[in-house]
Amino acid sequence: MVSFCPVCGKPVYFGEKKRSLGRDYHPLCLKCHKCKRQLTAGQHAEHDEKPYCTNCYMRDFGPRGSQKPVARTFNTTAS
Ligand SMILES: [Zn+2]
Ligand SMILES: [Zn+2]
Repeated sequence: MVSFCPVCGKPVYFGEKKRSLGRDYHPLCLKCHKCKRQLTAGQHAEHDEKPYCTNCYMRDFGPRGSQKPVARTFNTTAS
């Protein structure tokens, strides 16, 4: 049974697959989509079928899964 890597779209064969969060990845593909850091199976986040490290995930998508980056207002009205 061959499954397909969600990162590169190529087939993942039994001997090389790295299963994480219900998907099969190539060992080299299991890295953060953003910072390319190597990820540990089962210990990362994912978004849009792409694996992310928790740091990038939290920064980009936030704790509630919002896709909009958190706007930081620096010109706050001084009280
Ligand atoms: Zn792959
Ligand atoms: Zn990352």
